[in-house]
Amino acid sequence: MTCLLASLVLAVALPAPAQAGPPAEAGTFRAPDLAELTVLEPGIRLDVRYARSDNFLGVPVYREARAFLQRPAAEAVARVHRKLAEKGYGLMVFDGYRPWAVTKAFWDATPDEKKLFVANPARGSRHNRGCSIDLTLYHLDTGKAADMGSGYDEFSTRSYATWEGGTKEQLDRRELLRGAMEREGFFVYPWEWWHFDFKDWRDYPLLDVPLEKLGRPAAAPATKTP
Ligand SMILES: [Zn+2]
Repeated sequence: MTCLLASLVLAVALPAPAQAGPPAEAGTFRAPDLAELTVLEPGIRLDVRYARSDNFLGVPVYREARAFLQRPAAEAVARVHRKLAEKGYGLMVFDGYRPWAVTKAFWDATPDEKKLFVANPARGSRHNRGCSIDLTLYHLDTGKAADMGSGYDEFSTRSYATWEGGTKEQLDRRELLRGAMEREGFFVYPWEWWHFDFKDWRDYPLLDVPLEKLGRPAAAPATKTP
């Protein structure tokens, strides 16, 4: 009896164990098929700050600067990139599929008053499903990122999709990006002009596979030497 009581007390006193992986989800999902954006469309540029130190955490959280989405979403983004060329722009991608453990690290590092900018790991992020993308426009003639009125991961009201304080050029570019993405089945996150979710995100499970574990295209066959 004493022993049972002691173990009950112990169970109550101990903190809940840290969540070790994505939450279990009921239902059936499509098999993940993460496609690398720059393989599908080499004109898409990458600016993966989570692979460097110049992100809001101040340390790299990815070992490799790569960007993936589930294949139908990735193909849609490639179409957006090609369509924007007629306006003189291409797409520059900050992030796509994000392993669940990285979402957890973001949540743990973000103060409560800024948590609307990060996903709760208890529910997971649509990035974890390979169905969200963070991106901006770049000028095709210079290769430089376009001025959109706020920086990526700027945790301020200027990041809101409804922000109206920018110049006409900045607001027009946001509208151009949003319209092009919406026509391909994405919708903008109201708090972040750069974040878009693919319409079929519910079809895919939460994933926690590191980027460096994802497949690479087969290398070109070595040239035979006589
Ligand atoms: Zn995002």
